Amino acid sequence: DPMQAMEFAQSKGRARMDGRTDVKFSDVAGLDTIITDLQDIVKFLQDPAKYQDLGAKPPKGVLLEGPPGTGKTLVAKAIAGEAGVPFYQMSGSEFVEAIVGVGAARVRDLFKRARAQDEACIIFVDEIDALGIKRAEAGIQTNEEREQTLNQLLTEMDGFTPEQGVVFVGATNRADLLDPALCRPGRFDRKLRVLKPDTEARFQILKVHARKRKMADDVDLEQLARDLPGLSGAELENVLNESALEAVRRGSNIITPRDVYNAVERVLQGVRRPAQPDQLEIGKAMAVHEVGRAIVAIVIRNATGRLEAVERVSMIARGKDWTRTIFYRGKDEDYTMTTKVRLLERVRVILAGRAAEELVLGCATSYAVKDLEMAYRLVEKIVCNYAMSPLGITSYAPVTRGAGFMKRSFEVNVDNIDEDLFGRGLKGGMFQPSDIGQHKMLMEIHKMLREAYADCLDVLSRHSDALEAATLALMENM
Ligand code: ADP
Repeated sequence: DPMQAMEFAQSKGRARMDGRTDVKFSDVAGLDTIITDLQDIVKFLQDPAKYQDLGAKPPKGVLLEGPPGTGKTLVAKAIAGEAGVPFYQMSGSEFVEAIVGVGAARVRDLFKRARAQDEACIIFVDEIDALGIKRAEAGIQTNEEREQTLNQLLTEMDGFTPEQGVVFVGATNRADLLDPALCRPGRFDRKLRVLKPDTEARFQILKVHARKRKMADDVDLEQLARDLPGLSGAELENVLNESALEAVRRGSNIITPRDVYNAVERVLQGVRRPAQPDQLEIGKAMAVHEVGRAIVAIVIRNATGRLEAVERVSMIARGKDWTRTIFYRGKDEDYTMTTKVRLLERVRVILAGRAAEELVLGCATSYAVKDLEMAYRLVEKIVCNYAMSPLGITSYAPVTRGAGFMKRSFEVNVDNIDEDLFGRGLKGGMFQPSDIGQHKMLMEIHKMLREAYADCLDVLSRHSDALEAATLALMENM
C-alpha cells in the first residue's frame, strides 16, 4: 500500500534516535548552498576548543525551514555524520498531547543524556513549531504543557556554554509561526530555507538513491526528474523504493523503466488529492494539451518509424498542483546532427498541445507559452543557424536572447553573404543583417511555424475521437 509506504518513510524520520550516524553530505542532494553554509558548524563540532582559542564566536543554532520530506532531518544527521559527533533527536509533536510536565521532563532527560557524554553533539528538534508556536497564534486556549516544554527547552539551550560544542538544529515548515524567543541570538539564530527540489535537484536526488539500487541502463533518471514536478526528496526516494518492489514482484533482480512507470503511478495515487472544482477547467485544458501532444507524436511515429514511442499519459492533482506526464519509451533522439524533416517533426509535437486546446476548447490558454518559445527557437535554428530555408546558405546565429525577436542581432558566420539582403554593417563587433534580411528570416520562421501548426490541427481533427476519448479518460481519473 503506497500510503502506508509513504507514512512509513515519513515516520522513520520522526523516530527518536540517539547516537552515531554515518550519514554524510554526499547523501544529501540538491542542497549545495545549504551544505556550504553549514561547513563552519562541522568544523566547530570537530574542534570546539579552537574557536575558543581564537576568540571566534561559535555557531549555536540553525533553523531549517521547509516543506516535509525535503531533507531537513537528513541534513541535520549529515552534520553529525561529517563531524563524527553523536546525534540526539526529539520531535515537537511528541509533547502536544502529553500530560502536563511530561514534555519538560523529556526535554530535561534528553539534554541530560547529551551532557553526560561530555562531547560535542547535535541536538535536533523536529517539528519545532508544535511547541514553539507564537502565543498569539495559539489562540485563547493556551496550552500549559506546550509552554512548559518550550520554557524547559529554552532554559536547557541557554545552559550550554560554547566550549561544550553543542549545536542545535531545529526543523519546521512554518518559521513564521515560531515564538520569537526561539530565534534570539544564541538559540536558533541562523535560518536556512530548504526548498522543494527543482528539476536538476530532483535528478540529483534520484541519482543518490539509485546508487543503492540495481537499475537497468535504460532507466532515464533525468527524464523521470522532469516528469515529477512538485515531489519532495522523500517522495522521490519512495518512487525508487516502489520501483524495486515492482521488480521483486516480477521476480527480477534489476529495475526496468516499466517498473519505474508503475511505481510512479502508485506513488502519485498515494499522494493525490481530489481535484478542486475551480481546478477542473485548468485540468481539462492541461489534459487536452497533453493528449494532443501524445497523439501527434504517435501519428508521426506510425508514419515514419521515428520519434520515441508514447508509453502513457498521466495527470494527477496534488493539492494545488498538478503532476502531468507523458512517458516516452526509449531515450530522446539525438538532435545534434539531424535533418530539417526531423526537426520539424519535433516542432509539431511541441505545438500539438496548443493546437489541441484550440480544437477542443474553442480557444487556447496561456498554458502553451513555454512551447511556443521552444518551437520558435527550434525553427529559428532551422532558418538561421542551419540554413535549411529557401534563403539558402547563409548562416546567421542569433546572439541576443532579448525580449522581442525584432530586436535581436545576428552574427554572420560565412563569407559569401548576399550583401543586398543582409548588408555589411558592423555593429557592436557584429555584422548586422539588413532590415530586409531580418524581415525575410522572420517571414521564413513564421511560415514554418504556421505550417507546422496547421499540420497539427489537421492531424488532430482527423483523430478528434481519440483526442476526446483520451481526454475524458484522463479527466475521469483526476
Ligand atoms: P524532512 O526532515 O525535511 O521532513 P527527511 O530528511 O526526513 O525530510 O527526508 C526523508 C528521506 O527522504 C531522507 O531520509 C532521504 O532518504 C530522502 N530525502 C529527502 N530529501 C533529500 C535530499 N535532498 N537528498 C537526498 N535524499 C533526500
